[in-house]
Amino acid sequence: MTVTPNPLLPWQRTAAGAGLLAADGSVRPTIFAEMSALALASGAINLGQGFPDEDGPPEVLEAAREAIASGLNQYPPGPGVPVLREAIARHQARWYGLETDASTEVLVTAGATEALAATILAFVEPGDEVVAFEPAYDAYSALVARAGGVLRTVPLRWTPDAERPDWRPDPDELRAAVTDRTRLVLVNSPHNPTGAVLDRDVLELVVELAEHHDALIVTDEVYEHLVFDGRHVPVATLPGAWARTLSISSGGKTFNTTGWKIGWVTGPAPLITAVLAVKQYLTYVNGGPFQPAIAAGLDLPDSYFTAAADALRAKRDLLADGLTAAGFGVSLPAAGYFIVADAAPLAGVADGRWDDGETLCRRLPELAGVVGVPVSAFVPAERRGDVANLVRFAFCKRRDVLEEASARLTRLRAR
Ligand code: PMP
Ligand code: GLN
Repeated sequence: MTVTPNPLLPWQRTAAGAGLLAADGSVRPTIFAEMSALALASGAINLGQGFPDEDGPPEVLEAAREAIASGLNQYPPGPGVPVLREAIARHQARWYGLETDASTEVLVTAGATEALAATILAFVEPGDEVVAFEPAYDAYSALVARAGGVLRTVPLRWTPDAERPDWRPDPDELRAAVTDRTRLVLVNSPHNPTGAVLDRDVLELVVELAEHHDALIVTDEVYEHLVFDGRHVPVATLPGAWARTLSISSGGKTFNTTGWKIGWVTGPAPLITAVLAVKQYLTYVNGGPFQPAIAAGLDLPDSYFTAAADALRAKRDLLADGLTAAGFGVSLPAAGYFIVADAAPLAGVADGRWDDGETLCRRLPELAGVVGVPVSAFVPAERRGDVANLVRFAFCKRRDVLEEASARLTRLRAR
């Protein structure tokens, strides 16, 4: 097939949106796929792609086995099996006080990814603007580009300052980004890659701006239960938000089942109907026997969820200490799977062996036997310089793996 550089075909726009289309027309794999392949090929410890290396709750795994054994192996209903939709509605009520109608306000999707795709394709028309915080999860730029929209980003800056949390957006920059051209505001909190939890006042400002400019709010809350201090606040719970908000989450992170791809979107019925209209021609349905299993997970007692966050917090601390000892600057995440580390202090020590985080990440297996992901992969080419030395490391791994990775990373300084 011939590749026409201009105008781009839809698939090329998608790849270009995520920065994966090269000038010669070739397409690169995502940074997560590239780094996982590098870890496999080099035998390095994979702290790149965010997936846990231990199984989740046995009740959830057993429920999937039971579902397969009992013959739940055909197409589930388009919006998802009722037991899962009801469990999602119960979950929203129990954790956030959101009363959600399981039959009209809940839609099960193939992971949060499909929920994001169907939502963006349902509402974004060519030329529409979508506002997101940057660095931004790669799917956003790819999907907005596929829809013909324009991604306008508001930077989250690492501002080491005891008075303020890292990675806070400037409210004036947020105000300037949301205009009458904004079709939707995408809010990823807890945030990938930074681990930031956006303050309530930022979320309230998003709601105020969305109301003022009649924009929709789409939230990506896949790390909702992995918050290390305090409780997650869904945007949908804020006054005035529900009617214009689609809240997206997934079972992958909460139950260590990233390969099952069971996600969901909740919101007012007319918006869910719109997302379903697109979703049913993306996958129609997925993961029949995994759906009741995730329902079993959502109904687990509070103690499961708090224990999961506690265990992950301890792993965060372990890797943060390891990275600090190895000479990295560390931004301590408030939630999620990842730590952003600044390799700038090490570049000098290693005598200019790398120019930026991307080069470092490609060389890290050979230099230290560890794989990370450059934060530049979450930023468009023109702003990659701002995050040149930042590397994202996943700490959703066994303690012995994190200890070994930390020990290996100290070798960088010794070189
Ligand atoms: N959003 C964010 C912020 C993520 O980090 C991820 C995956 N780790 C996803 C969406 C995709 O979730 P899923 O695997 O459920 O599609
Ligand atoms: N969300 C995962 C991460 O940030 C990656 C998922 C993927 O490979 N697309 O590491």
